[in-house]
Amino acid sequence: MTLRLHNTLSREKTEFAPIDPDNVRMYVCGPTVYDFAHIGNARPVVVFDVLARLLRRLYPKVTYVRNITDVDDKINARAAETGRSIKAITRETAAQFHEDMGALGALPPDVEPRATQHIKQMVAMIETLIANGNAYEAEGHVLFNVPSMPDYGQLSRLKQDELIAGARVDPAPYKKSPADFVLWKPSPEDDGLPGWASPWGRGRPGWHIECSAMSKEYLGEVFDIHGGGLDLVFPHHENEIAQSRCAHGTAVMANVWMHNGYLMAEGEKMSKSLGNFYTVHDLLQEFPGEAIRLTLLKAHYRQPLDFTKDGIREAKAELDGFYGALRGAAPAAEGTMSDAVLNALCDDLNTPLAISELHGMAATVNKAAAADKAAAAADLRTAGGLLGLLQQDPEAWFKWQPPAQADAGGGLSDDEIDALIAERVEARKAKDFARADAIRDQLTEARIIVEDGADGATWRRG
Ligand SMILES: [Zn+2]
Repeated sequence: MTLRLHNTLSREKTEFAPIDPDNVRMYVCGPTVYDFAHIGNARPVVVFDVLARLLRRLYPKVTYVRNITDVDDKINARAAETGRSIKAITRETAAQFHEDMGALGALPPDVEPRATQHIKQMVAMIETLIANGNAYEAEGHVLFNVPSMPDYGQLSRLKQDELIAGARVDPAPYKKSPADFVLWKPSPEDDGLPGWASPWGRGRPGWHIECSAMSKEYLGEVFDIHGGGLDLVFPHHENEIAQSRCAHGTAVMANVWMHNGYLMAEGEKMSKSLGNFYTVHDLLQEFPGEAIRLTLLKAHYRQPLDFTKDGIREAKAELDGFYGALRGAAPAAEGTMSDAVLNALCDDLNTPLAISELHGMAATVNKAAAADKAAAAADLRTAGGLLGLLQQDPEAWFKWQPPAQADAGGGLSDDEIDALIAERVEARKAKDFARADAIRDQLTEARIIVEDGADGATWRRG
């Protein structure tokens, strides 16, 4: 099985060769915790969760690091707006992030370092960059001097003037070169901003240095895969590379750079004013997390994705099909991994192809003779697991209802539905068809779909 990955550095799809095949090391930029995660934030989490699952299948050990940025000017601004403490905002937002991503079936990374717990490492790295002549102090700031690195810009391949225009940082008078970026900035004692003691006075780190310091701490100076959204290529990843390579004197920071494509919602760029700004938390009030996950994986990760609620409904219907195949098939504990699904994912995470292979496997389960059904269902579930899909009890899948409805007791409870179905069976036996029909109507009204099968009736919420 050959794993091939598209590398943003080379713009080519090449065979993956880990530095240490006994421990594959991957870093993905994590959230800045000040607000609910939106669906665009969830895409890299789900994409790189599939990659982590695939790597774990192929190699004996994977170290997957995804950070939490808990010091950032956006967090400071949120604290100032709301009058709440930075600590409360970051703690609650990180907990919400874990809950939302868990609901999307994303496994936690192996290490989840927080920026505020690695300030010492950031200061040490900045000191090295100053000593190496790649950074300088100016008016309480420390800046990375971009012209000091002759091959700066390899990842984004932007031209010098584009780099400067794209730097998007205010043209501060103390900068030696307009493209220079901040490693450390001052936090005067009396302005209420978070700050740590440093050789340059009380201050706080810039965003880019956080990832360079934390990836070095847990993965070393050079590691295998660095991932994130396409929007991070410049300036964030370009600047991570500059810092890490200049601090460690290495030719690369990571061998493979992977970026997921942009996400739109309902055909437009997401924005609060257009009403298409979907937080994961809100979507989970309306749809099962697994349907949202499948929607994200139906597009290849490098393609732009137009995320729509109709798309989630389609994904939910597809999952009804998969779970319908698994239901009643009593899958064995562990199936045989499908080579077709594995091959699809090994081809630069071709999730659309892998999902179409799963559909073929579900058809096989449905067509299988009774004696072969359990084994075919087990194979389907095992292959689905590689994508983080199809791991629920099928009964639980079909009984899902929106959390608000469940909390409010707005619909019939599972027990009430079971009791009505049992009563209907008895009514039919007693030839009380009026009662049986009345129960059927009551269930239909409550959007409960009853399916009469050879082994009795099953039901699902419609
Ligand atoms: Zn980063």
